[in-house]
Amino acid sequence: MLDKIVSEDVDFIVLRVGRMGEVLEAQKILVTGGAGFLGSYVCDVLNRLSASVVCVDDLSSGRLENIDHLLKSEKFVLIKADVSSFESNEKFDYVLHMASPAVPEDYQSRPVETMKVNSIGTLNMLELVRKSDAKMLFTSTSEVYGDAKILPTPETYWGNVNPIGVRSCYDEGKRFSEALIMAYVRQYSLDVRIVRIFNTFGPRMRADGMYGRVISRFVDQALSKMPITVYGTGRQTRSFCYVSDTITGMLLTLLSDKAKGEVINIGSPHETTILQLARLIKRMTNSNSRIVFKRLPQDDPRRRVPDIRKAKVLLGWRPLVKLEEGLRRTIEWFKLRGDA
Ligand code: UDP
Repeated sequence: MLDKIVSEDVDFIVLRVGRMGEVLEAQKILVTGGAGFLGSYVCDVLNRLSASVVCVDDLSSGRLENIDHLLKSEKFVLIKADVSSFESNEKFDYVLHMASPAVPEDYQSRPVETMKVNSIGTLNMLELVRKSDAKMLFTSTSEVYGDAKILPTPETYWGNVNPIGVRSCYDEGKRFSEALIMAYVRQYSLDVRIVRIFNTFGPRMRADGMYGRVISRFVDQALSKMPITVYGTGRQTRSFCYVSDTITGMLLTLLSDKAKGEVINIGSPHETTILQLARLIKRMTNSNSRIVFKRLPQDDPRRRVPDIRKAKVLLGWRPLVKLEEGLRRTIEWFKLRGDA
């Protein structure tokens, strides 16, 4: 569904991408994971820019309702498939490889699939890029830094990841994808750009079951007057970036000549503790939910905040939507959707 809030976000992204976006008109673009939270925003923006989009998604965590309005467009095709086995004889101008479980509980419940999509899936996409002579964007993650010891974390930091821990299927999976991409870049001179996305939130983020992230869960809990579940003491931090800022950063990375072959952090530089976040959401929703404390999950990073100087210099990008404004939009969207 393309509702008013998402539609305004899409307008804002298109405005910020500006004339650079014009090169995408009539281009053939493959988006893997296009039915997910971030992927569906990308599909909406590309559709608005008159690109021809093939979306590959197995709908294991992505949702049809995120893209059902696009199915009417003759410039949009959905292929329900897993990228680990997806094959195509078509040629593409751009490949945006975004498919992967990304929610800790979700990826920990299917660690083998998570590693497959980030190894065989990425290999498949790289071969397709090579055959098509396409440009590629890969969505990596702040999780490649693990429990970072350098904060704010720059792209030059190598990471502090437990290779056999419960999060390793995702962290090491993404690290393997990055290494594989760099091998293809070195050996075959492909045009690939990597974004390391830090915590992003907004409309279309799932709140249900094992798919909920901290913000969608807290909003859902606050609106439905359920206890707000803070894990651990709540002193761990994250830096939350509103979806329209993240998508703008991603597309500028894809389109800017200066980003070719680069790895770029995309995220908010403003750190918040999880307890502060819980209190803020409780206040903004006028909720009388109690805040309760639960066990901290294993290997939960203590602090996470990006150094975004590289994105500022190379892309002229920085987040523009403040946390409270992003939360206001997200809360409104959850209320209108009647999920809670
Ligand atoms: N978290 C929490 N309560 C919840 C869900 C998450 O306190 O109901 C915490 C989680 O332990 C982590 C932070 O919020 O410290 C962010 O969690 P999320 O699942 O959104 O993603 P992560 O940044 O860990 O990948």
